[in-house]
Amino acid sequence: MFVPRPPGVESRHYFLGGPVKVGWTPVSATQMYLFVVERTERRVRPPEELPGALADLLKPYGGHVAAFRESIGPDTEIAYRPLESFDLPGPWHRGRVILIGDAAHPTTPQLASGAGIAVEDALVLAEELARHRTVRETFGAYSARHEQRCRFVVDSSIEIGRLEQQQAPPAAQTAVVERALARLVEPI
Ligand SMILES: Cc1cc2nc3c(=O)[nH]c(=O)nc-3n(C[C@H](O)[C@H](O)[C@H](O)COP(=O)(O)OP(=O)(O)OC[C@H]3O[C@@H](n4cnc5c(N)ncnc54)[C@H](O)[C@@H]3O)c2cc1C
Repeated sequence: MFVPRPPGVESRHYFLGGPVKVGWTPVSATQMYLFVVERTERRVRPPEELPGALADLLKPYGGHVAAFRESIGPDTEIAYRPLESFDLPGPWHRGRVILIGDAAHPTTPQLASGAGIAVEDALVLAEELARHRTVRETFGAYSARHEQRCRFVVDSSIEIGRLEQQQAPPAAQTAVVERALARLVEPI
């Protein structure tokens, strides 16, 4: 759900160690979205249940989260989805067609890098297009340079999600995040 961005909030935050994972991501100078990740059976909550269910999940939390909980009402827009990823075996190209972004490597959002890696796909592909004379060479060079990095984002996100579901100690969860982000800042 979207919430007003309080003064002083400059970056993504998440809170581990409680019954669910709660966090927020600023998306503009005035707004951010609040997210909650819960482990459930595979089921669909009807939309009218969502405000009450979200308020219940946020009950144990204080600070800004408690204030956001107070603002939840029947008209609050809540996006509710299962988290899914998909391992598409390579190659991600055939003939003159190549898949990039989520079409090739959809990921759960734990590392918050799906869009980042999708933009990288486009940049790396553009660089390789400029370097090579044929589509075949371009796609081969792109795959050699970027496919493993995309798989690394998907695999790391799944690993973080697995630790969340096991309610592993927060330090163990953030260690995977930090290790992954440290690798992602390296040059491609
Ligand atoms: C809850 C959540 C939080 C996330 N947070 C982050 C984050 O903080 N940082 C980050 O980097 N990533 C994040 N991501 C991941 C990010 O949103 C995706 O990785 C990214 O949007 C993928 O971009 P894409 O262009 O490949 O695909 P999409 O954004 O899915 O774009 C595909 C587009 O194609 C359109 N389309 C589909 N079928 C057709 C058709 N037949 N004809 C024409 N158009 C069609 C769709 O409508 C859509 O507009 C998050 C994802 C989720 C679910």
